[in-house]
Amino acid sequence: MELISELQSLGLRLDDPTAGAQSRRGGAGPSDHKAVTVDGHTVMIPVHTAGSWSSPYVATQPGADGASRILRDGVEVGVVSFPRQPRFYKMQTFDGIPYGKIATLHGADVLATTILQSCIRYESRRKSCQFCAIGQSLAAGRTILRKTPEQLGEVARAAVLLDGVKHMVMTTGTPNATDRGAQILCESAFGVKSAVNLPIQGQCEPPDDDAWFRRMHDAGIDTLGMHLEAVTPEVRKRIMPGKASVPVERYMDAFAAAVEVFGRGQVSTYILAGLGDSDDAILGMSERLIALGVYPFVVPFVPISGTPLEDHPSPDAAAMRRLLSPLAGMLEAAGMRSGDAKAGCGKCGACSSLSSFERK
Ligand code: SF4
Repeated sequence: MELISELQSLGLRLDDPTAGAQSRRGGAGPSDHKAVTVDGHTVMIPVHTAGSWSSPYVATQPGADGASRILRDGVEVGVVSFPRQPRFYKMQTFDGIPYGKIATLHGADVLATTILQSCIRYESRRKSCQFCAIGQSLAAGRTILRKTPEQLGEVARAAVLLDGVKHMVMTTGTPNATDRGAQILCESAFGVKSAVNLPIQGQCEPPDDDAWFRRMHDAGIDTLGMHLEAVTPEVRKRIMPGKASVPVERYMDAFAAAVEVFGRGQVSTYILAGLGDSDDAILGMSERLIALGVYPFVVPFVPISGTPLEDHPSPDAAAMRRLLSPLAGMLEAAGMRSGDAKAGCGKCGACSSLSSFERK
């Protein structure tokens, strides 16, 4: 667990230059990461960030058994492995789009996609979330702007059949200030569920009308993520000036309404530690969320190259321990576990060491 927290905070240098080819760069949400299996847990570790280039941790070239030694100042501190490249990456749609541009493998067994690779918040850097790189992977040609329901169904089916994917995360840029992505999530979930029975987490901002929760559920979305990112109004305004126009209290109302539809523990939120919120603020908000039945997925902020926050440091492992240890206690007291979610980031857990604190 300690090594996971250290690697997530400091990043990892790769001794094998070809190993980076299977990692993801840019995009929405946590990025510039590579999946690494440490002590049997697959986690996302920063490998392309500026900070990771000066990380004291180096992964040696994998041996014949696929294992790679982790060295700190030349001393071996652990052994990891890198999940093999998914088989579905070798395929392409009937219209010639490589499957890997439609969805990617996250963690060990999660299929992840950004169904709409643009966002009303991203049109101007004055309004955009300062950590987000949703336009970068599109500009670099690593993805396509809009994934159709048919394409998503086709790729999901292949990922289940060829790679044993267990659940799917669908996020989206915010297309408008009304349903805020709920409608496009409905269409996409319907497309996937028509092709394969795969649990889906939808992720969007709170829509303007709570009726969308029932519609999303009925379209095939099993769990819902609505991501606060930061919890205090000042930090939200500074870090995400556009998205902060939807106030925290609207999120809280939306969480309560969504839990009624999706169930306790099946609604979650991402909270990025290290952007200015105090531990008390994050833990206080987590307490409110847990009382509502919402899983607070607290992850260390990791800067993405090319964003306004690219030089902002990640919280160190000790800071994450101070936060995640009491949070795990709160979750345990409430009987809420990441593993009970049907799908989504909390269940995957690869972007935070929270679930290892839960296990502890
Ligand atoms: S926690 Fe979410 S964003 Fe992170 S690897 Fe898993 S599915 Fe992807």
